[in-house]
Amino acid sequence: MAHDAVLALNAGSSSVKFALFAVAAGEGLTRVAHGQIEGIGSAPHLLARDPAGGVLEERRFAAAATHEDLLGILIDFVTGHLGGRALAAIGHRVVHGGTRFHRPERVTAEVLEALDALAPLAPLHQPHNLAPIRAIAATRPAVPQVACFDTGFHHTMPALATSFALPHAMTEAGIRRYGFHGLSYEFIARRLRVLAPRLAAGRVIVAHLGNGASLCAMAGGRSVDTTMGFTALDGLMMGTRSGSLDPGVVLHLIAQRGMTAAAVEDLLYHRCGLLGVSGISNDMRTLLDSDDPLAAAAVDLFVFRIGREAGALASSLGGLDGFVFTAGIGEHAAPVRAAVCARLGWLGVRLDPAANARGEGLISAADSPVAVWVVPTDEEAMIARHTLETLQG
Ligand code: AMP
Repeated sequence: MAHDAVLALNAGSSSVKFALFAVAAGEGLTRVAHGQIEGIGSAPHLLARDPAGGVLEERRFAAAATHEDLLGILIDFVTGHLGGRALAAIGHRVVHGGTRFHRPERVTAEVLEALDALAPLAPLHQPHNLAPIRAIAATRPAVPQVACFDTGFHHTMPALATSFALPHAMTEAGIRRYGFHGLSYEFIARRLRVLAPRLAAGRVIVAHLGNGASLCAMAGGRSVDTTMGFTALDGLMMGTRSGSLDPGVVLHLIAQRGMTAAAVEDLLYHRCGLLGVSGISNDMRTLLDSDDPLAAAAVDLFVFRIGREAGALASSLGGLDGFVFTAGIGEHAAPVRAAVCARLGWLGVRLDPAANARGEGLISAADSPVAVWVVPTDEEAMIARHTLETLQG
């Protein structure tokens, strides 16, 4: 596989993120280019960068450009940057693997059909993840494709953590907790084994705080509980998603306010969270810079909910040895990390304020019973690694 390249794709409803990796001798992966096409359906915009952040290509397209047109343009861009390497495989982030797919899977027609059947479990994400797989299978049938699942890392959760208190037959039918952000959590679990091997063997909560947000309780690097459940709506408050909600609120909105299921879905996914509470933005930077009391209220609620859910996960773990911050807010918002750590003081978290202001690495005080780390995540690198490992069997 040396002299080959692997492409990682992460396709959503209006964007496709990508990262291209060269397979080096010894089978390590080095990033060659990364970027995204955003604004699909409104104002499509391709931006590709080299590993140092330099712009390799920037293009804008007509609003009418379809997902398929833009994917073709992206693949052409990648082909032009292979530098003499062969494209050995394309790996995809796929949100739902259901109960069948725990490990990344080489895509066949049968696998694609099984993944299609899971679309009702993640209607806003799964179809967008699968569309590029289908398009590439049609245009480049010789390129192997691998599906990597956001749910996969959580298959080690015990039944207690995956069950709702619903009638047993419903649980058996798949209405249960799955958990998401698994590619990010797996990347962090592997990084932690390198950065802090003793801690990695212990009880750790990882906080993936991006536009989507969740916590994962890991014992010895394996997921034992997580805050997202049946869908990516559950758990923490997020950029535009509500997080956990009394299910009675949904009934009230439908029965008393006459909202349709589609309207409730739009509300809970797109108009709640930081955006809904602040009425200003879903962007943490904007809220931290604002002196509007509602911006502060949104940040306070975001932090409160993390503290509350972390307490629950500490119970699932039977104690806490470490806490890891990752993703956009976790990696960059020092005031949010400080406020979360203050709430976790009772669990033995003591922050080193200077280290927290610097960011990446160990940010807890030397005498802190709980080690606190900032570890940047890299879902695309995890996809590429899985893709290579799957091809090698
Ligand atoms: P992600 O989904 O991982 O890309 O994270 C997006 C979130 O990270 C948004 O809420 C951003 O406002 C937030 N974010 C990114 N950079 C910073 C920063 N320097 N300070 C605060 N929040 C940030």
